[in-house]
Amino acid sequence: MGEEMASALLRAAYAYDRLRAYPPEVAGRIATAIGHAVAARGEEPVLLELGVGTGRIALPLIARGYRYLALDCDPAMLEVFQKKAAGVMRKVRLLLADAREIPLPDESVHGVIAVHLWHLLPDWPKALAEALRVLKPSGVLLEGWERVEAEPECRLQERWRELVAEEGVSVERGLHGRRRAEVEEALRRLGLRPRTREVVAWREERTPREALEALAYRLYSFTKGVPEEAHARAMERLWAWAEAELGDLDRPFSVEKRFFLRSTRLS
Ligand code: SAM
Repeated sequence: MGEEMASALLRAAYAYDRLRAYPPEVAGRIATAIGHAVAARGEEPVLLELGVGTGRIALPLIARGYRYLALDCDPAMLEVFQKKAAGVMRKVRLLLADAREIPLPDESVHGVIAVHLWHLLPDWPKALAEALRVLKPSGVLLEGWERVEAEPECRLQERWRELVAEEGVSVERGLHGRRRAEVEEALRRLGLRPRTREVVAWREERTPREALEALAYRLYSFTKGVPEEAHARAMERLWAWAEAELGDLDRPFSVEKRFFLRSTRLS
């Protein structure tokens, strides 16, 4: 990988970390829900997270003493994760690997965690099969996602879509939810019974500038496939549009968020 590419990935990883972090009390509630869902029957539980990113799900669990296998295919994400986890790495193993080919033996972990991952994998059935392969017979698959409601952010994303469309690129919408439903159906076909629950609802403040940065750094999956030039031109016009439409880009607006956890126990 070229140096320029590597530092662009690292910048994006830091931006991800800064702009998608959970407030500490929310991160704690999510860790508690995951901890409760993992039953290890007297053994010390081993958790594997697929697409661990910069560790917003992993770190609170690691701090609680869980043995953790942190897998990601992006070395920049793992680099930021490792820096953040410094000092609590004793029970952590980093795996620079593809979720579709997990470098672990069959039936070796008590819990597999996947948060905001499936929609990034067109061939998700491979990753799902791998997740089920490495789970112990009493193990649990834990899929997490959040729902975000914020009017100004929706407007910015909508305007970005229009501007990208003017560049001749159409962007697929609703992939997240569709993919989640597909995974659920696949689990049910295997005779499993996924159960979803809302873990926590909270409110955050965000500025239009942060929302624009998140788009510029392509932190949302729907931005990923757009060619760089089309994205750059759309972003330039979007900044100008936002200044004219929203005025002060540093005046915060309120964002409603909810985190959901779907647990599927193998037995
Ligand atoms: N789970 C973390 C969270 O909720 O903050 C990160 C979510 S981020 C949207 C998706 C992560 O999955 C990124 O770190 C990305 O590098 C990783 N990823 C994408 N495709 C992957 C693959 N095929 N194998 C492993 N990791 C992958």
